[in-house]
Amino acid sequence: MSTLRFHAIKKTLDRKPIHIEEKERRSELFGRNVFNEATMRQFLTKEAFNSVMAAIENGTKIDRSVADHISTGMKEWAISKGATHYTHWFQPLTGSTAEKHDAFFETIGNGLAIEKFGGSQLVQQEPDASSFPNGGIRNTFEARGYTAWDPTSPAFIYGTALCIPTVFVSYTGEALDYKTPLLRALYAMDTAAVAVCKYFDKNVRKVNTSLGWEQEYFLIDSALAASRPDIVQTGRTLLGHSAAKGQQLDDHYFGSIPARALAFMRDLETECMLLGIPVKTRHNEVAPNQFELAPIYDEANLAVDHNSLLMDVMDKVSERHNFKVLFHEKPFAGVNGSGKHNNWSLSTDTGVNLLGPGKTPMSNLQFLTFFINTIKAVNDNEELLRAAIASAGNDHRLGANEAPPAIMSIFIGEQLTNVLNELENVTDGKLSPEEKTDLKLNVVGKIPDVLLDNTDRNRTSPFAFTGNKFEFRAVGSTANCANPITVLNTIVAKQLTDFKVEVDKLILKKEMKKDDAIFNVLREYIKHSKKILFEGNGYGEAWEKEAKKRGLSNHRTTPEALKAKVSKKAIALFEEMGVMNKVESEARYEIEMEDYVMRIQIEGRVLGDIARNHIVPIAVQYQNRLIKNVVGLKEIYGSEYKKFAQEQLNLIEAISGHISSINSDVTKMTDERRTANLLTDFEQKAHDYCNKVKPLFDSIRYHCDKLELMVDDEIWPMTKYRELLFTN
Ligand code: ADP
Ligand code: MG
Repeated sequence: MSTLRFHAIKKTLDRKPIHIEEKERRSELFGRNVFNEATMRQFLTKEAFNSVMAAIENGTKIDRSVADHISTGMKEWAISKGATHYTHWFQPLTGSTAEKHDAFFETIGNGLAIEKFGGSQLVQQEPDASSFPNGGIRNTFEARGYTAWDPTSPAFIYGTALCIPTVFVSYTGEALDYKTPLLRALYAMDTAAVAVCKYFDKNVRKVNTSLGWEQEYFLIDSALAASRPDIVQTGRTLLGHSAAKGQQLDDHYFGSIPARALAFMRDLETECMLLGIPVKTRHNEVAPNQFELAPIYDEANLAVDHNSLLMDVMDKVSERHNFKVLFHEKPFAGVNGSGKHNNWSLSTDTGVNLLGPGKTPMSNLQFLTFFINTIKAVNDNEELLRAAIASAGNDHRLGANEAPPAIMSIFIGEQLTNVLNELENVTDGKLSPEEKTDLKLNVVGKIPDVLLDNTDRNRTSPFAFTGNKFEFRAVGSTANCANPITVLNTIVAKQLTDFKVEVDKLILKKEMKKDDAIFNVLREYIKHSKKILFEGNGYGEAWEKEAKKRGLSNHRTTPEALKAKVSKKAIALFEEMGVMNKVESEARYEIEMEDYVMRIQIEGRVLGDIARNHIVPIAVQYQNRLIKNVVGLKEIYGSEYKKFAQEQLNLIEAISGHISSINSDVTKMTDERRTANLLTDFEQKAHDYCNKVKPLFDSIRYHCDKLELMVDDEIWPMTKYRELLFTN
C-alpha cells in the first residue's frame, strides 16, 4: 500500500467516536437560537411585534420607524446570546449560502464605542455582489445588487453572527437568488388556491405550501477524502475500480448506524435543534457510508432555508468529527447516488391539507380538485419539471436504475386510479340528481382517509402520490429545493387559475350547478392527462418505449433538459404568474448552462491530471519492475525465458496498451475542451462539453481502473473504493 494511502487509513482507523452528551431535552433546545414568535414577544415592543406578524401573515410592509424598534430588539437578543456580528444571509445562484459579517460595534468619537444595529441595516443592504452569477442581468442593467429582509423566515444566530434571511435582487429588481422567485411562486399559489378553495369553504383566506425534504449524503473519513484529489476538487470520485463488496448484500440499508457516524448525527441534530430545524429521522441508506436525514415538514420558504442552512451546518459539524460530507449526486460509481425527495402539499389557514382525502364527500371533492389539477399541471409541463431538477450531478442518477428515470410520470396507486376511472364516466353537461347522489356516495364519498398506497411501494416513480402529499423524488441531493418548488408551484397555480375560469364559465354560461361544473371540468382533465399516469416499473426498458409512444420527453442530459426553461410557453407562464420575467428566465437558463460547463470542465481537468500525473507514472514504474524481472529471467534462462515470464510479458504489453489509450484519450479530451472553450455561444459550449468532452471521461476511467487491477497494490497512488467505502 502506498504510504499516502497507508497513513490515511491508519489515521481513520485510529479515530474514536467523539462522545456526545445531551444534557437537555431536545424540545427544550428547539429554536433557542431563533428569533421566533416567543422571543419576539420578549424583545419587541407590542407595535413592532404586531408589525412583524402582519408582515409574515399578510405580507404587509414594515414601516421604517418600526424597523428601528425591531432591529434594536433583535440586537439585544443576539448580544445576549453571545453574537458579535450580523449578516444578511441569502442564497445566490451558486448553490451555496452567502454571508458577509459586520460587527455591531461602532465608534462614537472620543475613544468610545457602542453596539449598534439600525433598522436600515436590517431591512436592506448592498453587498458588493459583482462576483455572484447573474446570467448577464447586471452587465446589461446596473452593476449593484441588494439584499432585502424576508420577515417570513426568522432571523437566527449561527456561530457568533445574527443571520437575517434575505432576498437578493439586482438594482432593477431582477431576482439573483433562489428565494425571490420562490416567494413569488408561493404567493401565486396562495392566490390561485384560495380562489378555488372558496368553492368549498368561504372561510379560507390563505393557502400555504408545505415541504418536507429528505437529505441523502455520504460520510467519508476526512483523511481518506483528502487523499483523493477528485473528491477534494469535484466532490466525487472520477475513477476507481468497484470494491468486490458494494451494496449487493443490502446490509447497509436501515442497518445499525456506525458509532462514529452516529456521534456526528447526534451533534448535528443538537445544532439543528438550536437553529429550529425540526430534524426527526435518520437512517443508513442503500450504499455503504450513505445516510439520510429528514425533518418534520414545514412551510416551504422556511423548509428551503432550513435545508440550505442544514447543508452548511453538516459541513461544519462533520469537520469536528473528522468526516467529509459528500452531497454530490453520484460520488461513487457502482453504488447508489444521493437524492433529495421533496414532499409537497398545500394546506389552508383553516387547517385542511388540500392533498389529503377528507371525511365527507364535499371535502373529498375539494381533495380531488387539487389532486387532479396537480396531475394536469404536471402532465402539461413535464419538460419544465424535468428542467427544474437538471444538473451535471443529477445526470448520473436519472435513468441509471437507481433513481427515477429522466421521464416524468405520476404514480397515484390503485384506489385513486379507480376513482379517476369512475369520474371519467361522468355525464357531459348537467348531472341528474340520481347520478350526483351516486357519485357523491359511492365514488367521492368512498375515498378512505387512509389510502392503501399510502406508503407507496412503487419507489421507481419520479413523482408519486403518497397518501396526503406528492413526493417529487427526482430532485438531486445538492439541489436548492427552491428550484423544483418554484416550478411546481408555478405550474399548479397556473392550472388552478385556469380551472377556476373554466368552472365559472360553465356556471355562468351553461347555468350549471357548482358541483356539476366541477365534475365536468375534472372529467375533461382526467381524459386529457392520461399520458402522465404510470403505475408500472419506471426503471424498466419497456417504460422508455411506452413513454416515447405517449409523447413524454426523455431528456437524459442537462443541456438538453434545461432548454424547456426558455421555451416560449415557459417564459410566458412564469411571466403570467408573476414569478419571473423574461430577463430572469433567460438569465437563469444561462447561469445553469454555465454551471454545467464549469463542472464538467473542472472534472475534465482533474481527471486529466490524475490520469497523467498520478496513474501513468506509477504504471510505468511498475512496468519497469516487470521489465527488469523479464531481463533477469532472460539472463538466467536464455531463450527458454518466455516459459517463466509469460504473465510478466502479458502485463507489460497490457500496461502499455492502457497507457497509450489514456494518453490519446486525455489528449483528445484536452483538445475538445480547448475547442469548446473558444465557443462564444453558451448553448453550443454546453452541448459540446456534454457530447464531446464528457464521453471521454468514461474511456479514460476505464483504462485507469484496469491499471488499478494490474499494478502492485503497494504503490497504487489512489485510495481505493474498498478503503473509501468500508473504512470507518
Ligand atoms: P419516506 O418517504 O422516507 O417513506 P414519509 O413518506 O413518511 O417517509 O415522509 C417523508 C417526509 O414527508 C417527511 O419529511 C415528512 O415530514 C413529510 N411530510 C409528511 N406530510 C407532509 C405534508 N403534508 N406536506 C409536506 N411534507 C409532508
Ligand atoms: Mg421519501
